[in-house]
Amino acid sequence: MMTADNVLDGNAAAGPLLEIFSVDLTAAHGRCDECGRVCALAETVLYNHAPGLVIRCVGCDAVLLRLVDNGTRAWLDLRGLSYLQIDRAQ
Ligand SMILES: [Zn+2]
Repeated sequence: MMTADNVLDGNAAAGPLLEIFSVDLTAAHGRCDECGRVCALAETVLYNHAPGLVIRCVGCDAVLLRLVDNGTRAWLDLRGLSYLQIDRAQ
């Protein structure tokens, strides 16, 4: 149960999240949670022969991102990133 005035159901984030994820994320800069290296996703290493896409850090080879899409649903795992900085001026 949500009681604070500044707390909303997660559905309220639909608009802002749609706005963010409609951009080219390969230009976004992410920080590797393992080694701290920051670089654009386009500069990372992509393995596309796994079940889905796996993006690894170019510095330490840690998994940064996993994306699996079965055509009706997609799973996005960002656990390997401390953050993802998205340039909104694209
Ligand atoms: Zn790393």
